[in-house]
Amino acid sequence: MVDHASPTALPIGRGLRGRCPACGEGRLFQGFLSLRPACEHCGLDFGFADAGDGPAVFVILIGGAIVVFAALITEVVYQPPYWLHAALWLPLVLLVTLSPLRLIKGLLIALQYHHKAAEGRLVRRGDV
Ligand SMILES: [Zn+2]
Repeated sequence: MVDHASPTALPIGRGLRGRCPACGEGRLFQGFLSLRPACEHCGLDFGFADAGDGPAVFVILIGGAIVVFAALITEVVYQPPYWLHAALWLPLVLLVTLSPLRLIKGLLIALQYHHKAAEGRLVRRGDV
């Protein structure tokens, strides 16, 4: 498949599909969230990839806002019993947190590769 997208759209598409950020062919994940050691197609070492807490933070902020907003609107409009709140919002919490987690992790790793983002290092005067 040939991508004719913009330079930034290319890593975004590869990340969202869970593909290697370099070639777009090899798979990035070997489990739900665990990464392969290297790309099976081009051999890129995925040791650089460290999304950290980024995917979880995005999921918590976006998913939490969706669920809280929906629960507040439901309470104000319908005032259902608490057991119905639990029956509605617990499955929704699982849905809005688990389903986008892999997509966001792939996206952040692809953008990390694209922008050559890495951990900060101290540089001595003589090294520059
Ligand atoms: Zn690759």
